[in-house]
Amino acid sequence: MDDRDGWIWLDGQWVAWRDAKVHVLTHTLHYGCGVFEGLRAYKTDAGTAIFKLAEHTDRLYRSAHIMNMKMPFSKDEINQAHRDAVAKNNLDSAYIRSMVFFGSEGMGLRADNLKVHVMVAAWTWGAYLGAENMEKGIRIRTSSYTRNHVNSTMCKAKANGNYINSILALQEALSTGYDEALLLDHEGFCAEGSGENLFIVRNGKLYTPETTSALEGITRDTLITIAREQGYEVIEKRITRDEVYVADEAFFTGSAAEVTPIRQYDNRDIGSGSRGPVTEKLQALYFDYVHGRRADRKEWLSLVS
Ligand code: PMP
Repeated sequence: MDDRDGWIWLDGQWVAWRDAKVHVLTHTLHYGCGVFEGLRAYKTDAGTAIFKLAEHTDRLYRSAHIMNMKMPFSKDEINQAHRDAVAKNNLDSAYIRSMVFFGSEGMGLRADNLKVHVMVAAWTWGAYLGAENMEKGIRIRTSSYTRNHVNSTMCKAKANGNYINSILALQEALSTGYDEALLLDHEGFCAEGSGENLFIVRNGKLYTPETTSALEGITRDTLITIAREQGYEVIEKRITRDEVYVADEAFFTGSAAEVTPIRQYDNRDIGSGSRGPVTEKLQALYFDYVHGRRADRKEWLSLVS
């Protein structure tokens, strides 16, 4: 990942990919107190465009605010860095990773002289959960790890440290033969995947967990909007694991995961055990929007150049 050509935006400068390094005493590396974003740029007829750039930048700022990190750049500068990271690396389509982190100016939990640094990198990244699974659907299991409690790490922040919980859950799922984990909250209700929000379809209605202990997913918002426009009722509520067992369809959403069907949960087929018709329709619509194939909602796309 680090040994390649290209450019990374670091604190307002373009640094050669191989040289974009930090010191081993970087504070965020030690304690996980940092925030980040993951977003995608897609090829459209008008050129390469980032999907919901402003929404991601807004969340990056909200995350930083929650973690008490003072952003050293304006939102316009950050937006431009994202566009340029795609253009400067000559990418048609891309995954973009931005991160806000504390530097190596001090060590220890009490360090009070830390600089806030920002980086933006972009590279080509295919379907997060596998291209064939976008049609076939994935197999998931309930994690033995409880999702972060709302009063231990802050669930509205996309904070680096929150992902220890995600990685433990994902490692467990993968090592026991599943594609992804579904984490329950501390009361036993479905929260989210290790990097995705959950939706189920039951009797023609869509349900998704409230974002109490799940990230306020931007793809989740997109799906709610486009599903409602299609006439589906979308209900945000607590969902139990057995509601997912008896759902007609289920899918995950995320900027990386896009719209990924779930075909099996805890070894039980969901509905027919394959991608359901509502999932298929909304997934196709999502891909139409991100690729600029729809006449409406052009404001969701930011051309990179
Ligand atoms: N939950 C978690 C834990 C995530 O990491 C992500 C990916 N950012 C999501 C949900 C989905 O969020 P989004 O649609 O904004 O990518």
